[in-house]
Amino acid sequence: MVIVTHSADWRRAGTVLLDMDGVLLDLYFDDDFWMEHLPARYAAVHDLDRVSARDMLLAWYREQEGTLNWYDVDYWSHRVGFDVTHLKVRQAGRIALHPLVPEFLTTLGNTGRRRVLVTNAHPKAMRLKLAASGLGKYLDGTVSAFDIGMGKEEPGFWERLHRVVDYRPERAVLIEDSLPNLGTAAAYGMGGLIQVTQPNSHQPPRPAGPYAAVAGVGDLIPGVLLAPPEGG
Ligand SMILES: [Mg+2]
Repeated sequence: MVIVTHSADWRRAGTVLLDMDGVLLDLYFDDDFWMEHLPARYAAVHDLDRVSARDMLLAWYREQEGTLNWYDVDYWSHRVGFDVTHLKVRQAGRIALHPLVPEFLTTLGNTGRRRVLVTNAHPKAMRLKLAASGLGKYLDGTVSAFDIGMGKEEPGFWERLHRVVDYRPERAVLIEDSLPNLGTAAAYGMGGLIQVTQPNSHQPPRPAGPYAAVAGVGDLIPGVLLAPPEGG
């Protein structure tokens, strides 16, 4: 049986595991890139109309959903016939932090919590986004699912994460916009589980699942400040 934590107990939280896209960074960049920009480029390169190009790419995305290929820029470069990372680099000026992210991460650091980015993004995409957003200086560690060999939605992920991050699940808080990823972490025994319900600033909030839910991480700052960490 899965015991769901409805609110994060910040006093017990020594390690905060943070998703990147949708939690720290505005998912608008990714949604726009994969749904609009890449199909437009694919249509231009292969001399197709935009609607057919988009339909074709959407079918390919669906086929790879739930696998690491879905996040693999090299896989997609091979599939579309041009360099997807290069196209992302040219769009990098549009990568944006969500509001109050530096303030939230600084508050975590100032109150003694370790901040570890854990993303399904490919290492090339992660490096590009860290550089473009300036996020790196607010983090104590970064992990790509490609270092682990499986995505966060797979049941073995949080156990395997111990290979690269020394953490106690009962004293860790995971902040995610993905309900499947929160589900595998809940099953593993993660102490705190928080859903960010508005990953894309251009879209309305998504329905909250069975976890603590906030529109954005800025809403968590008062709770962190009010709960100094326990020793040990
Ligand atoms: Mg996400």
